[in-house]
Amino acid sequence: MMTTNRPVALVTGASSGIGRETALGLVAAGFDVVGTSRDTSRVTLLDGVTFVDLDVASDTSVTDAVRQVVEKFGRIDVLVNNAGIGSIGAAEETSVAQAQGVFETNVFGVMRMVKEVLPHMRAQGRGRIINLSSVQGFIPAPYMAVYGASKHAIEGYTQSLDHEVREHGVRSLLVEPAYTRTGFEANSGKPDTPLQAYARQRSTFDRLMADAIKDGDDPAVVAEAIVEAVTDTKPKVRYAAGPMAGRARMLRFAPARVFDKQIRKLAGLTG
Ligand code: NDP
Repeated sequence: MMTTNRPVALVTGASSGIGRETALGLVAAGFDVVGTSRDTSRVTLLDGVTFVDLDVASDTSVTDAVRQVVEKFGRIDVLVNNAGIGSIGAAEETSVAQAQGVFETNVFGVMRMVKEVLPHMRAQGRGRIINLSSVQGFIPAPYMAVYGASKHAIEGYTQSLDHEVREHGVRSLLVEPAYTRTGFEANSGKPDTPLQAYARQRSTFDRLMADAIKDGDDPAVVAEAIVEAVTDTKPKVRYAAGPMAGRARMLRFAPARVFDKQIRKLAGLTG
């Protein structure tokens, strides 16, 4: 076992996008960082980041990865549950099997990681868990209903968990990005049972989504919010990542009719 005076952070899905920037941000903030990928042989290595293989959809992979971190560093102070996948298409066009696949990563993947890491954090009497939600974790996500449902689940889980673990010195917090310039859209699942009834509206949404990601925040903006959540001396339950996410949060306080209209406009829906 290596002994380190620095705190240890584990970032899932650090091979690209937000996870990669977060790993770099945590190195700069003084952490020993372990990043993960399902295939570390294909990862471009980062200075100060140790990579381990991890598929959050697999029980054995999660157990192995956490064991490796504890064997190498002796502890885990921070867990950033960043690994996630998108799913685009109307709710009716997505099979239950496909939706289960999304939940295996975005929801049960987070639960697997939490259950494996928490015993170590409780034993230390301290720790911080940061779960990546999305603005679609608190507003409707037409044409991304399954993804939105997975992030709504993360919002509920994270907040409930936070109340349970606080007395053990652990906090469980949310970071909520808006559209961010990563490979997220390209890596998102497409509907496995497409229906003509939704084809026109879905292609409008596809275009809006591609433009929104292209014009979206730099992943470094989200990484900054994650580092803030990790290091805040007075942690908040949720951190909006960037101005767009801040505006989306304010939308929740709009009158119901204004809110409804705005959601339809954002998704390019008519009528
Ligand atoms: P990317 O597609 O660039 O990154 C996703 C990361 O997740 C990859 O590093 C990938 O690693 C990892 N991953 C995917 N599936 C698994 C799995 N089963 N087990 C372990 N790792 C996995 O997207 P982003 O960086 O944009 O996404 C990061 C997070 O931010 C996600 O949770 C996403 O929902 C959230 N988010 C993104 C937004 C955006 O607009 N980009 C907006 C709001 C939230 P590898 O393939 O190497 O295993």
